[in-house]
Amino acid sequence: MNPDVVVVGAGLAGLATAWHLAPRARVLVLDQGEQAGAEASAQNAGMVRRLGEDPYERALAVRTAAWLSDPGEDWEGRAPSRVVGAVLGLARDPQHLHDGVAHLRARGVAVAQPADPVGVAPILAGSPLTAAWWVPDERVADAWSLIQGFLAGLRRHGGALRTRTRVLGLRTDAGRVTGVDTDQGPIEAGRVLLAAGAWSAGLVAPLGLRRPLIPLRRTLVQTLPHPASRPDHPWVWIDDEGVYARPEGGGWLVSGCDEAVDPPSGGPGSRGPLDPALAALALDKIARFLPALADARVAGGWSGLRTFAPDRRPVLGEDPELAGLWWAAGLGGFGVTCGYAVGEVVATWMDGRTVDWLSPRGVSPGRAFPTRLLVRSGGVIGEGELHRT
Ligand SMILES: Cc1cc2nc3c(=O)[nH]c(=O)nc-3n(C[C@H](O)[C@H](O)[C@H](O)COP(=O)(O)OP(=O)(O)OC[C@H]3O[C@@H](n4cnc5c(N)ncnc54)[C@H](O)[C@@H]3O)c2cc1C
Repeated sequence: MNPDVVVVGAGLAGLATAWHLAPRARVLVLDQGEQAGAEASAQNAGMVRRLGEDPYERALAVRTAAWLSDPGEDWEGRAPSRVVGAVLGLARDPQHLHDGVAHLRARGVAVAQPADPVGVAPILAGSPLTAAWWVPDERVADAWSLIQGFLAGLRRHGGALRTRTRVLGLRTDAGRVTGVDTDQGPIEAGRVLLAAGAWSAGLVAPLGLRRPLIPLRRTLVQTLPHPASRPDHPWVWIDDEGVYARPEGGGWLVSGCDEAVDPPSGGPGSRGPLDPALAALALDKIARFLPALADARVAGGWSGLRTFAPDRRPVLGEDPELAGLWWAAGLGGFGVTCGYAVGEVVATWMDGRTVDWLSPRGVSPGRAFPTRLLVRSGGVIGEGELHRT
């Protein structure tokens, strides 16, 4: 029997949406990889960050964090997240994030200016901050547990995942989607959800649909065990300078928030090796902005692809130019933070219903996109190179 919905991509976006759809529709998820969740969804730092720059991202993040605090009886498997708290520090622009703080407070999220930042996050000792925000109930989430839980729920409701199946293109007839062509043959479906992360834009370009989604490579460095690391230390992000650290494996997972445009190859495998120059960037920033970690030593690291629309807002909902084509893409650096709610809202809209917490227009695949994206190569907010999209 043909599925009602084919989902292209078994990352957080595709599986969260499939999980929400499965009780009401026959859902088939396709992925080109050997297993689900092996691309960006396996490359992230796992920080759930509600205090972001964009109001749509924040709305999705607040919704996801509320669910993470109580996933409910439907959730199978391990608790996907835990509270550790977070400090968003600012070293050059004390007003950056003010609007986000107001938004979160209006939604009842606790955000405070800590009287003693080092008291809440000891690794801030010696940090040259001009301002800091303390979000005491911020979380870290384990993307693998999320992937496994979404998969279990999908299967319980009769949905299926088919791996090692690469979608080659969309099938259309009389201006609407009728299915997909894959390297295993065609599959018919009345609706196709594109949740193909870094590969999404390339799948619609042959149809003449311009949906700019730009993959930006970012580096993560894992340090050797370090005396200041403890599992319940808050994660710390010096947001305007672009450097973060979260405890991991007895050491620290750190990034200098580097960005470089890097379209993926044709098949699976977007994880890259640690570039020594970008590890050096991260460690230099650590020394300047988190000097308490200046003695941390590199154990290893990797890079992965974060995929953004030019306005850095997700691309969600039905495509206005091709009936039956749906999107859950452009989750950039916030797919762990927003994934659950992305799935919820896209599935709700597919059912013909609305939500009162997100307007479809602002995230529509057909919205007017800027023609350039500021690529923050050195991780600093407001600095970088303009990339023509
Ligand atoms: C270094 C790094 C750090 C990050 N840190 C954080 C963080 O701390 N907090 C946070 O919230 N987010 C973070 N993110 C972002 C988060 O990981 C992503 O937003 C999220 O994983 C995107 O999920 P996705 O499902 O859209 O994409 P993916 O996980 O990339 O899934 C897309 C899937 O589509 C499949 N696919 C593609 N093309 C085809 C095709 N033609 N046929 C079949 N299958 C196909 C791929 O194989 C893949 O499995 C980080 C990302 C990176 C890279």
